[in-house]
Amino acid sequence: MTAFGDLVDAVIIGAGVVGCAMARRFSVEGASVVVLERAPDILSGASKANSAILHTGFDAPPGSVELQCMQSGYDEYMQIRESFNLPILETGAMVAAWDDSEEGRLPELLDQALLNGVADARLLGRAEVLAREPALGTHVRAALLVPREIIIDPWSAPLAYAMQAKALGARFQFNAGLLSARFDGDLWHLETPSGTLAARSVINSAGIQGDSVERMLLGEAQFEIRPRKGQFVVFDKAAAKHLRTILLPVPTARTKGVVLTRTIFGNLLVGPTAEEQEERERPDVTRPELDMLIAKAVELVPALAQAQVTAVYAGLRPASEEKHYRVHCLPEKGYFCAGGIRSTGLTAALGIARHVHGLWAQSRTAGGERFAAPPTFPLPNLAEHLPRDWQTPGHDGIVCHCEMVTGREIEAALGSPLPPGDFGGLRRRTRCAMGRCQGFNCLARLASLTEGRLSVPIAPEVDP
Ligand SMILES: Cc1cc2nc3c(=O)[nH]c(=O)nc-3n(C[C@H](O)[C@H](O)[C@H](O)COP(=O)(O)OP(=O)(O)OC[C@H]3O[C@@H](n4cnc5c(N)ncnc54)[C@H](O)[C@@H]3O)c2cc1C
Repeated sequence: MTAFGDLVDAVIIGAGVVGCAMARRFSVEGASVVVLERAPDILSGASKANSAILHTGFDAPPGSVELQCMQSGYDEYMQIRESFNLPILETGAMVAAWDDSEEGRLPELLDQALLNGVADARLLGRAEVLAREPALGTHVRAALLVPREIIIDPWSAPLAYAMQAKALGARFQFNAGLLSARFDGDLWHLETPSGTLAARSVINSAGIQGDSVERMLLGEAQFEIRPRKGQFVVFDKAAAKHLRTILLPVPTARTKGVVLTRTIFGNLLVGPTAEEQEERERPDVTRPELDMLIAKAVELVPALAQAQVTAVYAGLRPASEEKHYRVHCLPEKGYFCAGGIRSTGLTAALGIARHVHGLWAQSRTAGGERFAAPPTFPLPNLAEHLPRDWQTPGHDGIVCHCEMVTGREIEAALGSPLPPGDFGGLRRRTRCAMGRCQGFNCLARLASLTEGRLSVPIAPEVDP
């Protein structure tokens, strides 16, 4: 017996999108699971700041684990999304070419897409591109259309995975970073600030700390995380009318490049940059890069010169010294790693979880009983193009007027089985304070509504 209760089958380290998907898959398959997260809430690392595109894998390395996980993750998301009320925005994507050399690369990108099984990808000439997107700069030359690239809500999806895992018995421990670990030849003994824990196996999904967690567990790491920052600019909702399709650049070997896309919440987004940095915790935004992104957006869609900016943010990709995912295991030690999931993890998470669970199951002689019909439940819709809570009577008033967040939505989030641990978690669950005023008007009300209910309060207590 430990501070956390009985011995568990698997401890999952990190509650990013990969850890949440992992907790769901292992729980559905009947394993007993504890998730250790050092932050006060899920999605506090790379998973809080991405472009929210569900990728088809058209440009992923053929035959790679990444491609396989992206495609199985995409398919599983589409199978389960209705039962969780998870939205999609069916935009399609265009890889646009703006000069001779980029235009010359489109046929090879089409060949790769077809090789990767993305059979509906096709080339568009300039007139077709402009007919589809009349607001584009007229210097566009041609494009590769990938119809099934879509936009999702990057936060409600992993929240649904985590909530289903929790409903199946998984335990989430927040503010519980792994401090040390010992393998006794049979079991793992893991120490956290909240106590110790014994487990048959450990799943490393610690994102930007994946290599240091592997070192803590095994004494050395097979890979090295090289954080790659991505900054974004969010344009006001009025700007979204200028573009329907996700606009991708012709990719380079290092990055997918700067994307211009709608968000599911009704804004238009430009980013990310791709900047190597040593620092692992602080994805700061910087003025020259934000100016560059705005200039790029205006170059692609000139009408954006008049658009207002609502917000800026940055995320840190858990990239490594090699391009591919760092998925490996030591079955004899009950160690499994899903590391280096740098830029496609939102799409691939369900597939990665399936893949790692498969490796885990192969290494075991006995297992728990699979849940044939795991419980599902609808999450509140936050997508702008679908009905929102404020449109239904009895919503207890509007708290955030920019994003039309109701008192009922705030209360539902705070009272849910997996409530937010901090203000960021509440914002991601409801969109409060995410609009034009960024909380200037509603922060005091939110501080009062959440008083005593977040592990990190909105208004920190001041010592007398
Ligand atoms: C700029 C940008 C744009 C992107 N765009 C897209 C996109 O459009 N589509 C797409 O599919 N993907 C996209 N991605 C990729 C996707 O967001 C990542 O692949 C994914 O978030 C990685 O998830 P993760 O769970 O591996 O890591 P994380 O989300 O970083 O989760 C790791 C967790 O581990 C915790 N942790 C660390 N150390 C410890 C410890 N010692 N003990 C306990 N917990 C610990 C951290 O607090 C963190 O919560 C993008 C990423 C970025 C940064």
